[in-house]
Amino acid sequence: MNLTDSDIREYLTGKNDAELFAEADKVRREVFGIDVYLRGIIEFSNHCKQDCLYCGLRRSNRHIVRYRLSMDEILECAGEIAESGISTIVFQTGEDPFYSDEAIADIISAIKSRIDIAITLSLGERSFNTYKLWREAGADRYLIRMESFNKKSYAQARPGTNWQERLNCLEILRELDYEVGSGIMIGLPGDSVDDVVIAISELTTMHLHMIGMGPFVAHSQTPFASEENGNVDMTLRMYALMRILNPMANMPSTSAMETARRGGRMRGLQVGANVIMPSFTPERVKELYNIYPGKNVQKDFDEDGLQAALAMINKAGYRVSFVRGDSPLKDIEKCIM
Ligand code: SAH
Ligand code: SF4
Repeated sequence: MNLTDSDIREYLTGKNDAELFAEADKVRREVFGIDVYLRGIIEFSNHCKQDCLYCGLRRSNRHIVRYRLSMDEILECAGEIAESGISTIVFQTGEDPFYSDEAIADIISAIKSRIDIAITLSLGERSFNTYKLWREAGADRYLIRMESFNKKSYAQARPGTNWQERLNCLEILRELDYEVGSGIMIGLPGDSVDDVVIAISELTTMHLHMIGMGPFVAHSQTPFASEENGNVDMTLRMYALMRILNPMANMPSTSAMETARRGGRMRGLQVGANVIMPSFTPERVKELYNIYPGKNVQKDFDEDGLQAALAMINKAGYRVSFVRGDSPLKDIEKCIM
């Protein structure tokens, strides 16, 4: 299906949701069948040196109780993910300099030497050498959302950081042969529908292996506390459009969908998403990974609740898959090279 910018704009109005969502699901079934890939996520620190205006982990938030997991705890969580049968571990944190680059490389290689499992990192902006070190230690994939393609709202929301430098990170990661993921937050203060149209086209040009998107959810302990949440329907349309334009990308239905609307994550699966990421962060600190309100608060996706995740996937009309689930785009790239 060819989509012009004006088609995209028209779909984003919501006038043709039934047609859009059916087409997205058709494309997802052609590539992934009814399989839903699982990724076990470990959020090993909620310290962050950045000060993003939207995020509860921002360094200026004095109300949050901070935590860090020890190396042993991280390895234990990784073991739990492997035992559950899940074939990908995702590490996500604030940008926390406490863990040296080498320490993180050691964790990656320790896991890779013991378990046959894919490792995805979402540890923010780092240097070429750091990304290289982690890739050589065995990391397979890296997620770093651009957050917005409106440079003005980006600059407002992420003081002290630079949009172009974040984009450069994605280029470096690709050069280092990671599977690369990016995306935006839908409804970041300052963004318009035009910015969403631009994001759809720019992200598509990047030929991403993974696309991560979710609605902005206002956090009371941040400067964006009284801003409006991102629109869930708009996010569903974005999922569907991105699936149609990026048939082979792995695309999670994110937990922000569930926070913004009960049942939102299940709906995301029905309009193009093909990945669910249950959190394996230990129970005692899980709720402190409070990027946005409600994050990790639901109990149905914790370790014991894996069955509940499976039930949700079945209820949505799909089937849980425990395979590693690399992006099929990677295989095609290998053939071309
Ligand atoms: N520190 C890393 C990874 C952790 S944040 C980074 O910033 O890249 C992971 C993602 O959470 C961010 O990319 C952002 O899109 C999302 N996020 C942060 N605050 C949010 C909020 N208030 N509502 C919705 N998503 C949010
Ligand atoms: Fe830190 Fe990421 Fe939150 Fe920004 S979005 S404050 S970099 S954890």
